[in-house]
Amino acid sequence: MKYYSTNKNATLASLEEAVVKGLASDKGLYMPEHIHPLDQKMIRNLKNMSFHEIACSVAQAFFGEDITSETLDKIVKETLSFETPVVAVENNIYSLELFHGPTLAFKDVGARFMARLLGYFIQKQGIKEVNVLVATSGDTGSAVANGFLGVEGIHVYVLYPKGKVSPIQECQFTTLGQNITALEIDGTFDDCQALVKSAFMDDELNHHMMLTSANSINVARFLPQSFYYFNAYAQLDRIDKADELVVCVPSGNFGNITAGLFAHRMGLPVKRFIAANNRNDVFLEYLNTGIYRPRPSVATIANAMDVGDPSNFARILDLYGNNEETHRIITNLISGDRFTDEEIAEAIRRVYKQTDYLLDPHGACGYLALEKGLNENETGVFLETAHPAKFKDTVDRILEKEIEIPAKLQAFMKGTKQSVPLKKDFTAFKTYLLSR
Ligand SMILES: *Cc1c(COP(=O)(O)O)cnc(C)c1O
Repeated sequence: MKYYSTNKNATLASLEEAVVKGLASDKGLYMPEHIHPLDQKMIRNLKNMSFHEIACSVAQAFFGEDITSETLDKIVKETLSFETPVVAVENNIYSLELFHGPTLAFKDVGARFMARLLGYFIQKQGIKEVNVLVATSGDTGSAVANGFLGVEGIHVYVLYPKGKVSPIQECQFTTLGQNITALEIDGTFDDCQALVKSAFMDDELNHHMMLTSANSINVARFLPQSFYYFNAYAQLDRIDKADELVVCVPSGNFGNITAGLFAHRMGLPVKRFIAANNRNDVFLEYLNTGIYRPRPSVATIANAMDVGDPSNFARILDLYGNNEETHRIITNLISGDRFTDEEIAEAIRRVYKQTDYLLDPHGACGYLALEKGLNENETGVFLETAHPAKFKDTVDRILEKEIEIPAKLQAFMKGTKQSVPLKKDFTAFKTYLLSR
């Protein structure tokens, strides 16, 4: 299968090129030339399949032309060592819990899959080493670092802003050692991101070492996220709740919802989608006006969704033709909503009190959008994108009590922090990388 750029100004890439390069040479995002539908018989039979079987079938549709089914099976198996259960919250609203992986966030799925696929290509090509640069405000760094931990031929550099990442998140990428190096940058998250961007554009550095990124622009990170949409459908179908299904996705860079839209294109019977936002609502504005106006992000308590220019927006436009019909098609399938910090906090308190279910600030946006927008005959499922303990300070403050930290998180906190302090100027960063 070939991959084209959403900017349509780059040569077609193989899967391998798309995964290793991440971004196309014209700065567009890679899209698969074909999206093969699953046959309807299989979709009706999803309820009788395991998560592993479902994921293998979906992976086959995307990557089967390029990778043998034995290799894919193995990659899927190593990626999905955990479940993504659907849990009833109230009435017709269900939570798709995506936080049962090693770092308790949905990004584990994509990061683990990408690490293994990239590792496979490196081995096949006899490439000595690929270096993954990732800037993080918390969640991405931990998922990527843990996903790539111990994968041969890959070294990961996690850049994070000093003093601006919660202690729980920090220890998830600073205590690992092995092929993971944490770089503590004396600056903001934007400074970290700027350093990574400059590194990708620096000829001398790219000559010295092979560099790539691991955020949701990478096809190997966002496509595997479609696995759990099929798995959610299977679970709801088992309890006769899969008709009139509305899927609600708390969104930041829109990689997660894009994977859902791919699943829909492959034939997954989802009636409609809702994109739930915090106060960073450029997508909602696009739905309402047809005009996309990126702007600087504002800080919220659902901070993994503080994105002012969602990178996967280009993929959504492309998926629906990127022409004068596109806005109409998109608004027929996707609606949006946005919530303030106060509304998010109120929902966490209320749902916990009424149902005992503990939402995290991101999932709370998804819950709220369903509560407001679901029609009587519909079943709604929102993606619970992280475990609430990942945002312990915020949730504790909202509930006025100490929530429990799962054993998996506690284990990270026992490790020793190791990081390299660096100034935020590019020369220092470059000198450091050249010395490696
Ligand atoms: C990354 C993240 C999101 C946003 O996902 P996108 O794919 O960027 O839209 C939502 N919630 C949590 C907890 C995240 O870590």
